[in-house]
Amino acid sequence: MARITIPSHVNCPHCAARNPSAGERCGSCGRPLTLYIGPPEHFPRRLDLGSLMWLIALIAVCLGVTREVPALGVFLLAIAVPALLRTFVWVARQKEDGQPMFWPEKLGAFAACAGIVWLILLGAVAGFAMAFAIGSIAGAALQAIAFGAQGNGQAVLFASVPLGCIGGVLAGYYLVKALWPIKD
Ligand SMILES: [Zn+2]
Repeated sequence: MARITIPSHVNCPHCAARNPSAGERCGSCGRPLTLYIGPPEHFPRRLDLGSLMWLIALIAVCLGVTREVPALGVFLLAIAVPALLRTFVWVARQKEDGQPMFWPEKLGAFAACAGIVWLILLGAVAGFAMAFAIGSIAGAALQAIAFGAQGNGQAVLFASVPLGCIGGVLAGYYLVKALWPIKD
């Protein structure tokens, strides 16, 4: 029968310092003395050729629409491209977990992602509009106090536009944080 002998000392796999084998962490560099052997916890995510073709096709369609109806094309591009990228990550995640998606599921995932992008855009616009309105009222009030009837409207603009931008960015930021991460 083979006997397994445990060495009294091991070399740290990170810095090669000699450590008593009973220790869990290296006395020299503090990193764990055990090495994890197996697949990486997160596979590097790259766009494969198929995904890239889809992305190019989608952008081509959106650019085609842009030529005919510019506003609609830009709008489609702003929704569809982030949605498709999020779908790729989602599909890759499912595949890593051993639950590959099939076509109807992939289409459903894309629709869900498009919905999320749409909500984020809508929220950002609503945030802008609300902060803009508040800024306009505050600006008008400030102007009335400072200049009376002689105001030229600049105070309103100075208050409403930056406030609107801050409101839009904040609303967009919180919505992205809440909706964008793909939950398992
Ligand atoms: Zn070490």
